Amino acid sequence: MTTTATAAQAPAGNPWHDAREQLDAVAGKMGLDPGMREVLRHCKREFTVNFPVKMDDGSVRVFTGYRVHHNEARGPVKGGLRYSLNVSLDEVRALAMWMTWKCAVAGLPFGGAKGGVIVDPRALSSGELERMTRRFAAEIGMLIGPDADVPAPDMGTDAQVMAWIMDTYSMMHGHSAPAVITGKPVSIGGSTGRVEATGRGVLFVTQEACRARGMALAGATVAVQGFGNVGATAAKLLAEAGAKVVAVSDSEGAIYAGDGLGDIAVLVERKRTRGLIPDSHPGTHITNAELLELPVDILVPAALEGQIHGGNAARVRAKMIVEGANGPTTPEADRILAQKGVYVVPDILANAGGVIVSYFEWVQDLQSFFWEEDEVNLRLERIIKHAFQEVADIHAGAGGTLREAAYMLAVRRVVEATQSRGIFP
Ligand code: NAD
Repeated sequence: MTTTATAAQAPAGNPWHDAREQLDAVAGKMGLDPGMREVLRHCKREFTVNFPVKMDDGSVRVFTGYRVHHNEARGPVKGGLRYSLNVSLDEVRALAMWMTWKCAVAGLPFGGAKGGVIVDPRALSSGELERMTRRFAAEIGMLIGPDADVPAPDMGTDAQVMAWIMDTYSMMHGHSAPAVITGKPVSIGGSTGRVEATGRGVLFVTQEACRARGMALAGATVAVQGFGNVGATAAKLLAEAGAKVVAVSDSEGAIYAGDGLGDIAVLVERKRTRGLIPDSHPGTHITNAELLELPVDILVPAALEGQIHGGNAARVRAKMIVEGANGPTTPEADRILAQKGVYVVPDILANAGGVIVSYFEWVQDLQSFFWEEDEVNLRLERIIKHAFQEVADIHAGAGGTLREAAYMLAVRRVVEATQSRGIFP
């Protein structure tokens, strides 16, 4: 696990308003039936839990957590669990809706969900974190299940947290249920390749985006905001593919070196062991805000939502933005970036690698038949590059932004599923 944002770094605006605005824009363009639009504008289930946890000093603390199901027309719902002080019901709603679109863009048989707990996991001991996680798992136990709702890691959670949830659910049901959650350790049914999957997916879509734009990835300058699971892996793989990573950041700040930051794998390892980007690394220390405005070829926001907004979009100098994070660009920023000709590869496509390999993990668990990492990576590449091509084809025909094209594909698939099933009763 890496770090979470502090309240002082809370994202601008309200992600739920942004998510609905993105849907509304495309619904208008597609001439979507008003009733269907209302269905899609709402989350199907919104579950809030307030639960006590015994702390190490003997005191009792009450935590608040959420699990939200946006839409399950296409299958069991899927989506991560976030531990952060910024978690709110509106944030979880937005993330759940984005999961619906992401699964549909990738053609996965899942609906969208998300969950989270308002907590800074770094402020808890390992024992407190485990007790909090197990109690939260028990509280949402009536929603989750291999056929119903399959959570996964997100900001502030990791494979260990997933293992505690898998074990708690299994204890409650009297048998081992690995398919209840993805992103687990490989020793208990996790998939090879899952830890790196989102960052690897970012690499694959960046390769496709460069091809579409006639831009060489080799030698392209890259800035990455957020040096956690997604950002650090993306930075490492992009560097291995020949790109020049010139800036990276975490919640504490950013470092920049115009000639490149050197061996990114070393930086990843140092960050892993020391917890933060080390002071000693060569490069200039800059702020996170400055990182977003660097003159780079490719910007990869991989931290929080709402980072590129109406207040800074005009100053963004990247030629291409590949959204590793969920919702890093607000609708207002999207309009400004489109006017500037910045090519934005949207989150629901760019960071779909995580849920694609989570899907593989779920399939492997259900079959108790596990794949080699090469096969996982190959299938990931095939699915995400195919999704990119489908989105690019719609974009070529309909114009607008790549985000609108991705939404058109996703919304069409969810609407088709909803219409095929009909409205109960
Ligand atoms: P993580 O907790 O592993 O890492 C988050 C990183 O962001 C940390 O390095 C943290 O220090 C940094 N950060 C926090 N606030 C910041 C700020 N204000 N400025 C710069 N950096 C900041 O989380 P993650 O799993 O890598 O998730 C990052 C983003 O990617 C989130 O938006 C998440 O929803 C999205 N995402 C994650 C996955 C996945 O598989 N983990 C899949 C799809 C999308």
